[in-house]
Amino acid sequence: SGCGICTNRCPFGAISVINLPEALDNPVHRYGQNSFELFSLPTIREGAVTGILGPNGIGKSTILRILSGELIPNLGNFDEETKNWDEIIKHFKGSELQQYFKNLSNNDIKTVHKSQMVDQLPKFVKGNVNNLLSGLDEIGNFDEIINDLSLKNVLEREIKNLSGGELQRVAIAAACLRDADFYYFDEPTSWLDVSQRLNAVKVIRDLAESGKSVVVIEHDLASLDAMSDYVHVLYGEAGGYGVVSGMKGVRVGINAYINGFLKEENVRIRKNPIEFSIRPPTAEAEGETLSSYTDIEKDFKGFSLKCEGGKIYHDEIVTAFGSNGIGKTTFAKILAEKEKADIGKVDEKVEIAYKGQYLDNDFEGSVQDFLYTYAPSYGSNIFKSEILKPFSLEELLDKDLKDLSGGELQRLFVAVTLSSDADLYVFDEPTAFLDVEQRLIAGRTIRKIVESRNAAALIIDHDIVFIDYISDRAMVFYGEPGLEGHATKPTDLETAMNKFLKDLKITFRRDKETKRPRVNKFDSYLDREQKASNQYYYLK
Ligand code: ADP
Ligand code: ADP
Ligand code: MG
Ligand code: MG
Repeated sequence: SGCGICTNRCPFGAISVINLPEALDNPVHRYGQNSFELFSLPTIREGAVTGILGPNGIGKSTILRILSGELIPNLGNFDEETKNWDEIIKHFKGSELQQYFKNLSNNDIKTVHKSQMVDQLPKFVKGNVNNLLSGLDEIGNFDEIINDLSLKNVLEREIKNLSGGELQRVAIAAACLRDADFYYFDEPTSWLDVSQRLNAVKVIRDLAESGKSVVVIEHDLASLDAMSDYVHVLYGEAGGYGVVSGMKGVRVGINAYINGFLKEENVRIRKNPIEFSIRPPTAEAEGETLSSYTDIEKDFKGFSLKCEGGKIYHDEIVTAFGSNGIGKTTFAKILAEKEKADIGKVDEKVEIAYKGQYLDNDFEGSVQDFLYTYAPSYGSNIFKSEILKPFSLEELLDKDLKDLSGGELQRLFVAVTLSSDADLYVFDEPTAFLDVEQRLIAGRTIRKIVESRNAAALIIDHDIVFIDYISDRAMVFYGEPGLEGHATKPTDLETAMNKFLKDLKITFRRDKETKRPRVNKFDSYLDREQKASNQYYYLK
């Protein structure tokens, strides 16, 4: 099955390793008989951020749990009750990790770990944000961190009432306030908007710049790129085993990932490179109108939204981006008729399929039952080849919906939305919890289905690399989060990005080799030059 080269089910040839390194003998950790095995660990550099890039289920979180001392590695001897530090230290003889584990076992170093599951935070900590964070302030930089992460307005709130993005920022702040030697961040940008992502990048980089050692797991390539000095790419087989590549410079490492080939390791991780297209700044081509809407207004108590009327064309993907709390979800709901506008309306009535931002897992039953209920074409050959396969749902069919991980639930909901025969597909934050490969596969699958049905898609998202990869056109939401939101009509991507980035005061260039978008360093030569010529996005 699949591309015929690898053993994986993925039809695009993603993830699976094509030529395996021979020496996969001594694992660092193995969870049990026939369970996941981890074969190596990253290198940690003092005064630097080391990024970790790899698919879900490949051992990234396991690595941070080992490095932080939460999980003592068993060197593959999963049935031995007691782990012997001497053996572990011997295992890493000749590598920098030997001293690391000596120090860790003697409590000579202090580690801090921001875990992936920030939504679990309310289970472990009670009270309000101020009490939690001021109690952790070991360095004396409370005011600075609160300011950098824009937490001032939530200080008096109870932890249990925080949104996902607020919990994430509180968890990052909690880590940064503590005085440790090693800082580990597991997926720090989930739930955050672009400006919050860049604020997280800043506080994490500040740690390294003050001489600390930092390791970060991240799927948002623009954020990973901006925050890391080095990267390690993880490869292997999701759920089976994971191997850590050698340390690479951040640009080279991310480009190798995009090209699908790790030169030093001689390992191919994907059949084809990911291709970014440079859209020259030409006048916008008019398409054939699929749907249009007038100016739209909506008022909630304390929040008002005004959207400029616009058109959506056949066969296009329109992306929408902007801060959290600016009205994106409200607009999507109005389009999908889940919410009524106070003023304005959608002119052409078209069939809409909608995936909401928050995924509800209270369905009683298995993934298969869920598909029977909600995916009209489940069982057909087309469904199997066009949807089940790209989203790798076959392996989930027997699982209960309640037991799915965030990424598994997301794949299922995007797949179900695509399975209905609609004119306009609306996706609210479809990349949340997906790894880089899954994001791209989702993008390509949406594209394929939209084009085969002569339909269109509107996608709200915060991942700039993903947005760049899939957008035909885009709309920007701007204003005062939580107070008032405005949306532009869909325009060409350059115009939309330019407006968006100007508000954020950041500029992007393209990588010369892969053409992927990269954040310019603030106040660098390019940053100043692009700002001066009003080109916040898109250059040679
Ligand atoms: P990632 O962070 O790259 O998504 P993880 O390190 O969380 O991956 O997990 C790697 C693999 O190990 C997964 O297949 C996961 O199911 C498995 N795994 C994680 N924790 C345990 C555990 N406590 N017991 C058994 N298997 C586990
Ligand atoms: P975004 O998707 O851009 O994060 P939303 O559209 O979800 O923004 O929300 C915009 C603002 O409207 C927020 O301040 C939110 O609290 C408020 N809001 C959204 N839905 C409702 C509602 N049903 N009742 C009252 N306020 C709401
Ligand atoms: Mg993980
Ligand atoms: Mg939203």
